[in-house]
Amino acid sequence: MKILIVEDELSIVEFIRYNLEAENYEVEYALDGEEAIEKIKKGDIDLILMDLMLPKIDGVTLTKLLRKNTQTATIPIIMLTAKSTEIDKVVGLEVGADDYITKPFSIRELIARIKALLRRSSTAAQGSDVLQIGNLVINEEEFTATLGDKELELTLKEFLLLKILVENRGKVLTRDFLLDKVWGYDYVGESRTVDVHIRHLRSKLGEDADFIKTVRGMGYKAQ
Ligand code: CA
Repeated sequence: MKILIVEDELSIVEFIRYNLEAENYEVEYALDGEEAIEKIKKGDIDLILMDLMLPKIDGVTLTKLLRKNTQTATIPIIMLTAKSTEIDKVVGLEVGADDYITKPFSIRELIARIKALLRRSSTAAQGSDVLQIGNLVINEEEFTATLGDKELELTLKEFLLLKILVENRGKVLTRDFLLDKVWGYDYVGESRTVDVHIRHLRSKLGEDADFIKTVRGMGYKAQ
C-alpha cells in the first residue's frame, strides 16, 4: 500500500512518514500541488493525505481536479486541516475528500483513519466480483466461496460450476451447457461428469445445498 503525503511543511511530512513506514506502508511525498500531480500520474498511489494550504495548487483545487479525472476519481483522500487558519472541514468533504483530520492530530488517530478508509475502499472495489446467494458468498477475484464465515474447500471445477449456477440463478442449465462452460469445448466428457461434480458440491455445501435444484431430464438450476 502506497500513501502520498501532500504537505509543504517538511517537518510534518517527516513525522507522518516515519510513523507510516513503521506500519509498513510505502510512503511518497509532494511539497506542492504540481509535484503531487506528477506523483499521482504514475498510478500507484493507494491513498492521499492532503494538506489544504499548498503552494502552486491548493488542496481543494487539487482534490476537485482528481475527482474529475476517471483515473484518479476513486483514490481515497484524507484532508489535513488546521482549525482556525484553514478552510472549514465541511468544504473538504464537499469537494470530494473521504475524510479529514484536524491539525494538530494524534498520529494514532491518523493511522486508524487511514486503515479504515483503505478497508472501505478495497471492499467497494471488489463489489462487482462478489456473488451472493443466501449465506454463500463467491469471490471471483480470489476464487473463494464462503458459507457464513467458513471457507469452502472446492476444486477449481467445483468452484466454476458453483459460480455459473449462481450467476445464472433461476435459469435451467443443461448438462451440455455446463460441460462447455466449465470443462471447455474440447472436453470429450459425459454428462455424468457434471452429475458427479454437483454431488461433491452438494456434500460440501451440506444443508445449504438446497438452492441447487435438479431439473429432471434437463440439468440444474440455482434458485
Ligand atoms: Ca500547508
